[in-house]
Amino acid sequence: MNRILLVEDEAHVVSFITKGLSEDGYEVSVALDGKTGLSMADQNGFDLIILDIMLPEMNGLEVCKAIRKKNTKVPILFLTALGTSENVVIGLEAGADDYLVKPFKFIELVARIKTLLRRTGNNDQEHLHPEEQEAIYTIDDLILNDYTKKVTRDGIDIQLTSTEYRLLLYFLQNKNKVLSRMEILEKVWHVDFNMSTNVVDVYVNYLRKKIEGYNQGKLIHTVIGMGYVLKSE
Ligand code: CA
Repeated sequence: MNRILLVEDEAHVVSFITKGLSEDGYEVSVALDGKTGLSMADQNGFDLIILDIMLPEMNGLEVCKAIRKKNTKVPILFLTALGTSENVVIGLEAGADDYLVKPFKFIELVARIKTLLRRTGNNDQEHLHPEEQEAIYTIDDLILNDYTKKVTRDGIDIQLTSTEYRLLLYFLQNKNKVLSRMEILEKVWHVDFNMSTNVVDVYVNYLRKKIEGYNQGKLIHTVIGMGYVLKSE
């Protein structure tokens, strides 16, 4: 399991990131100010550090420079509300590997994290794992391997976007259970505010096209007035 240090002082950002990353299988530790973040980074071997810039005690740029004096390898991803190119340049000069401008989408954060972990050869999810068997979900001839993130149907690779993948995984984890659009929206998109559930219908259709092509059996069934269910035909 990849270990991530999150240095961030805004409670809602902390809970949003922590909740989402934990559900995605990352172990997240949190520091609410720069000094604590630096000492945690020094003491523990994290696989990646997410660092806010505007922090109490010590700002993110100083924390980053201090970490880099001792540890040149750990990927550092800056979160910045500032967003001007000048600040971004300063952040990268301080030794950060990448940055995200607030507000950002959760899937965007996950994509950046995966890229950074892959670059350092530290993405646990891409190595064979003794518990890999437990991460394999199937229905009929469809297989999703949540360690390698590969999806196949009848032995043929299916390329999914990260949202489609998360949607399919959620369906597989709840096989035969009728899921409401709201449930799907909350679990797959990690939103807890009012957002149209139309996006669920749109993505279910994208997913159907990819996993039910070539006259293969139907897997995602619409339950009128209720939502969707993944089951054998
Ligand atoms: Ca902040």
